[in-house]
Formats: sequence, C-alpha cells, structure tokens
Amino acid sequence: MSGASLERGINALKEQIDAPTATFFSACVHCGMCAEACLFFTETGDPKYTPIHKLEPMRKVWHQEYTFWGKFARILGLSKPLTDAELTEWETLVYDSCTLCGRCSMVCPVGNDIAYMIRKMREGMAASGHAPAGMIGATRRAVTIGSPMGVKLPALEAQIRHTEEEIGFAIPVDVVGAEYLCTLSSMEIMNFPEYIGAIARIFHETGVSWTISSEAFEATNSGIQIGVSDIAAELVERIVRAAEKLKVKAVISPECGHAYTAIRWEGPNLIGRPYPFKVFHILEVLDDLRKTGKLHTTGKESRRLTYHDPCQISRRGGVFEQPRNLLNMVAENFVEMPENGIMNWCCGAGGGVSANERADELKMKAFRRKKAQLDAVAPDAVVSACANCRIQLEEGLEVNNMDIPVISLTETIAEHLAGETSTEARQS
Ligand code: SF4
Ligand code: SF4
Repeated sequence: MSGASLERGINALKEQIDAPTATFFSACVHCGMCAEACLFFTETGDPKYTPIHKLEPMRKVWHQEYTFWGKFARILGLSKPLTDAELTEWETLVYDSCTLCGRCSMVCPVGNDIAYMIRKMREGMAASGHAPAGMIGATRRAVTIGSPMGVKLPALEAQIRHTEEEIGFAIPVDVVGAEYLCTLSSMEIMNFPEYIGAIARIFHETGVSWTISSEAFEATNSGIQIGVSDIAAELVERIVRAAEKLKVKAVISPECGHAYTAIRWEGPNLIGRPYPFKVFHILEVLDDLRKTGKLHTTGKESRRLTYHDPCQISRRGGVFEQPRNLLNMVAENFVEMPENGIMNWCCGAGGGVSANERADELKMKAFRRKKAQLDAVAPDAVVSACANCRIQLEEGLEVNNMDIPVISLTETIAEHLAGETSTEARQS
C-alpha cells in the first residue's frame, strides 16, 4: 500500500471522529464488559475480539489528534503515528469479526455505541485500501450492475413471471401512484423467490396497492457494509429517485437486516435531506394490516417454532414486537430462545461478513452461539425475517448436523392467509 493511501485512511479516520465517537473513546473505563457480549469473543475466547479493541487504530488517531496529552506525546515522539502494518493487522478485526450487530453497545456501562464506531472505522479502512476483496467485489457490482450479487432486471423479470404463473395474477411493476414501493434483496430474488409470491398474495388478499420498481428493486446497500458513505448514499438515492418517480407514499424494506438500517435509519443523513415518503420494514406493514383488521389468517402451525431476531431489524431497528404479534396469529407452539429480542445473538454473518469469504471459518465458529440458543429450546423449525440470516442459519445447521428447517415469517403468514389455498394444496 502506498503512503498516499495510508494518509487517506488516517485522514478518513480523523474525519469520522465526530462528537459521539470522541466522547465514547474518552468515556471508556476499560471494564471489558463488551467482550462477553460479542459472539466472536465468546466463541473463540481470544481477547483480540474484544469489541473496543477492534477500534484501537481509530482510538490512536483520536488520542494523537484530538487530546492534549496525545498531541503532546506525538510532538515529543513518545507516541508513534499509525502505520500500514497496524491497519493490515486490524482489517480482519474490523471486517471479519464484526457483524455490526450492536450487542456490545447494549451492555457498555457508559453507553458507548461500539457498533456505530466500527461502522465509522470501516470508512478509514476502506479509504486506505484495507477492505476485504469479497466486499469490494460486492460493492463494485452494486454500483455498476445495481445488485451486490450481480442480479439484473431480466433475472427479476423471470422470477416475477414464474411467480405470476404460480399465483395466477399479475405482479405490479412501475405502477405510478401505488401506495407502497416494495424493494427486494438479491438473496430473495435468487435464493428465496417464494418471498415475492408471499407479498403478492398477502397484498392481493388485503387490498394493498403496491409496486416493484424496475429501476430500483435492490434494497441491500454494500456501501454501508464496506464503509464508503458516497457509495451508500448513491445506492439510497436510487431508491429515493424511484419512489419519487412512482409517487408512492411509503417504501417497504424486505426481509433483510442491513437494508432496513440503510434506507430507514442512515438514508436521510447519507443523502442530506428528508424523504418525501415513509419507510417501513415488511413486518411493520404486515403487523399494521393485522392491527387494522385487514390481515386474516386461518389454521395454526402445530410445529414448535422459534424466532431468530435479525440484529438490524430487532436490536438496531426496534421491530421486535411485530414479528411476535404475527407469529401468535399462526403458531400455536411458539417458544422464545433464551436472550431473544433486543439481546438476541447474531447469526454470525451480518455486516458484510457473508460477502467476505476469508471469514467463512470464523463465522461458523460464531454460529456456535446460535446453536446453543437453539439447543436450549429444541424447535421443529426456526422462523426469521432476513434472507442473509436464513442462509447463515441453514449453513450453520447443516454443518452442525441439525435437522431444523429455516422459514420466512412473511412466507409463513402467506401460507396461512384466510381465503387462500396454501401453496402445498395449490401445487398438488
Ligand atoms: S457489533 Fe456485534 S460483532 Fe461487532 S463487536 Fe459488537 S458484539 Fe461483536
Ligand atoms: S464495555 Fe464500554 S467501557 Fe467497558 S471496555 Fe467496552 S467500550 Fe469500554
């Protein structure tokens, strides 16, 4: 790496040190409580995975640039400037062993939002050329093709055609004046296209006016995960432009964790203006349909079901009551895992870890935490609301020889729609 990119990285870190970050660094009492909250520490026992330690290069820049004693020590040559070797060493700590799950932020006794700081540190790492190859590739595809998995419009159109044949009615695309613009994640389009059929059937049954945009169907935001705000803003802008063009009242974020964080919480700050529409997660919309008496289901799952809270939807997004309200409609044997809801343990693959092949072994170690939670309740199936979590859960369960199906909450609701024939019955 050149000296210029190291300088760019240090400058980016300096720029990212805002008032909250500086306060967090000075407030840290080095108690180590954040370690026990992080699945990468608990499942490896390695102290290098202590959350606050992952921020050491940024802490060093803060100390040297923004504190009296740090500046003094630097001038006297008592503290050395950040080096490329340090950034190289920290790359795996900042990207491979952090899912931005925010669990550490919940336990810090002085209120440090460590996940927020790691998100900021990634900006400096990316600027200095220290982002993982897998995430760089995903981000490049998101910018040039429009999707981190390289999914193009014809692939979505093919899935829509197959779904229409199955459900027997048209799926709205580019409908101006629809109430909702539904976004999707590439993983849903390619791995779980049943989700498209599920929302179509639910909205058809409940009379909701909605549309997909051919110009901005992708909800995921690689810019947020890798830590490049300009790219993150561009990806948010695409959805905003489509929503404005179609004159919708609200945008629906799909069953994807970080997509919700990107469009709902970070988006307006990234693009520097408020949206002229609202943003909801799909579970918020479904729960609202329940509350207003429009969503009716029939029959209940007799299987023992549990719910995996996706971190960005529950802990970081505040959507943890809605899935339980919905599950109560369709599950007669719902069991909570220990430490559920806002203190749920991450699946181990969020925050871009799933796009970073180098982290494959570590993410499976981290999954042991989820395994322990599942072992405690021995469910017949696990329900979730994030396609990325579903993939990691399926892989982790397979690796651990656990025969537990992973199902989508939206799809489960669609299976039980009153007035609907279930997919099984339709296919037989
Ligand atoms: S955000 Fe989650 S994965 Fe990252 S350091 Fe904190 S607890 Fe660990
Ligand atoms: S829990 Fe908070 S105060 Fe304690 S070491 Fe971690 S960041 Fe510092």
